[in-house]
Amino acid sequence: MILKSSKDILGDYILCNHCLGRQFGKISRSTNERRGEVIRTLLISLYPDISSNFFNQKPCYLCDNIFERTEDILKDLSPDFEFFTFHVGTKIPEEILIQEKKMKDMFGLDYQESIKQELNRELGKIVSTVLGKEFKREKEDVTILVHPYSSKFEYIINPLFIYGRYNKLLRGIPQTKWFCRKCKGKGCVKCSGTGKMYDESVEELISKIFLKETRGTDSAFHGAGREDIDVLMLGNGRPFVLEIKSPKIRDIDLQRLEAEVNQINEGKVKISNLRFVEREVVEKIKNTNLKKIYMAEIDAYLTQEEKEKIESFFLERTIHQKTPKRVLHRRADKTRIRKVYKVRTFRENNSSLEIYCDGGLYIKELISSDEERTYPSVTELLGKNIKCISLDVISIEEKV
Ligand SMILES: [Zn+2]
Ligand SMILES: [Zn+2]
Repeated sequence: MILKSSKDILGDYILCNHCLGRQFGKISRSTNERRGEVIRTLLISLYPDISSNFFNQKPCYLCDNIFERTEDILKDLSPDFEFFTFHVGTKIPEEILIQEKKMKDMFGLDYQESIKQELNRELGKIVSTVLGKEFKREKEDVTILVHPYSSKFEYIINPLFIYGRYNKLLRGIPQTKWFCRKCKGKGCVKCSGTGKMYDESVEELISKIFLKETRGTDSAFHGAGREDIDVLMLGNGRPFVLEIKSPKIRDIDLQRLEAEVNQINEGKVKISNLRFVEREVVEKIKNTNLKKIYMAEIDAYLTQEEKEKIESFFLERTIHQKTPKRVLHRRADKTRIRKVYKVRTFRENNSSLEIYCDGGLYIKELISSDEERTYPSVTELLGKNIKCISLDVISIEEKV
């Protein structure tokens, strides 16, 4: 079957050994070049009066003998950034792909491997040898996109993902960069030209140091939820993933950078538990609602009776909560159902509540009722208006 098809193909077209062998690439494990050579030798010995196409002539109809030039294509490869693993992609001119497809259809070549696959593999071997880096099929540090017919290449440097937990020790700092509402980041009178609502953010305080160290172009901060600007994040800290885009340096010392971030931001932000992770962790931490423990200060003095009432009522209690009025301008209006597992009060303190609840529950509204948009609430239970005047997250579930 292979010999018959090969004879037909070579009757019409000149092919190099790579391209001849590749038409049957998925049949056996030997290299395309070797397979092509074997087929050609056999054909020549079987059919002595064969046309000259059968000999290894030039130029190859499909590839223009590109496989002879692979080392030459990559001779100027000299990436000026650090990486350990790579993947190779190739940009093949459209007309070559069309010709290849035509040949496949015309001769019924169901086992054809495409020129793209073979070139990726061959170029990958050379890069690996020349640069001493590891070829990786996925999750590679860099993708080298080669344009073999113009000997050009592009580098696509994949981001670095760093997991950690952060504490926010000072009120008034948003989690992420918050663009000026008026100018949307361009800079105006309202924001004194900064384009931002706040000078600093947890994101910037952390990422600045990592961007400098990795020489990345940009960063993104992915938090497992977020606390309000005026809420402290204490205890074991909130999980986050810092994404550094196009890093030139990847082998960074996380312990040293953690210490540096913590020293520079003393009294503001502290990070811990740093480690490198894969991209999937970003989705994971964004989509898990971690249970939390809050400490809330309220604007009322609770009697012993009221404390007991709160503790016995908010035990495994389901809360229906419509999107708070204060965030309606940026969040869809919907009802969430969350649980309060436990509320603890204190003998020596009449204005504090420790609340153990599901992630995604708005605590200020759990206390105030937000004009009955949250029910039940502490306000409703005690029959008097109570507000939260200060709030801290004191612990977040350890799951991620
Ligand atoms: Zn060829
Ligand atoms: Zn502005």
